[in-house]
Amino acid sequence: MLLRAVPYRDADLILHIFSVEHGRVGLLARGARRSKRRFVGATSGFVLARFTVGSGKSQDLRVAESAEVMQQWEALALDVGAFAHANYVLEMVHELLPEGHPEPALAELLAQYFDELQAHGASSSVLRFVEYSVLDIIGNAPQLDQCVRCAGDIDGNAGFLASRGGALCAACVAIEGPRPGLRRYPMPVQDYLLAIRASDDVTHVRKLDQVADDARLAARDLLVALITHLAPRPLRTLEFIAKMSSALRRNPTTPPKP
Ligand SMILES: [Zn+2]
Repeated sequence: MLLRAVPYRDADLILHIFSVEHGRVGLLARGARRSKRRFVGATSGFVLARFTVGSGKSQDLRVAESAEVMQQWEALALDVGAFAHANYVLEMVHELLPEGHPEPALAELLAQYFDELQAHGASSSVLRFVEYSVLDIIGNAPQLDQCVRCAGDIDGNAGFLASRGGALCAACVAIEGPRPGLRRYPMPVQDYLLAIRASDDVTHVRKLDQVADDARLAARDLLVALITHLAPRPLRTLEFIAKMSSALRRNPTTPPKP
């Protein structure tokens, strides 16, 4: 799966890909910007391809000799909401996944997500499911129903601290006191996130979009805070989604999809 293509020297591309067998890797595609022949269709967009890699290395990168497109989600580029969500997921995987860790479950998740997104359009609940699943796969799933500090039960007065990885019970919130990044974690948000976590398949999550807007928006803020905390740099695609959402709120010709 192509995550990102970065221009390099006069005519080359560095392809950041997520591979089923090798995890996240960088490949050098020599001449890919001059001649599209060897890499036809595999160096842009939302694409699953089979790359043939040579034995040599250049600048610590393996060299891609050619590519064959296996699957392409071209329609994602035609819908601004789906396009924004798909790009965000690719950037999230690129930033959160350590290099060289094969994660077959993640490859399957991405392909299923793009199928679903292309068929039905952007959905905040499906996106939350993908965020939660990626965090789970990399071993950083948030603690949603137990206090991260005392392992006790939580209630409607709990807090959520991304830097600690999840929920704080009311007693621990009182002990730790006010601190930057501490968010409210009321019951409707807990219920929504637990329903996201309990979903076992990307195709069944969309019905949770019926949950009230404020619970879904608060849940988004919690997961995005966690992802932002874990990522080594700010995610550019999040900025794009925020601008898009505020433009839709000002001019709601189509229902906003937070
Ligand atoms: Zn506690």
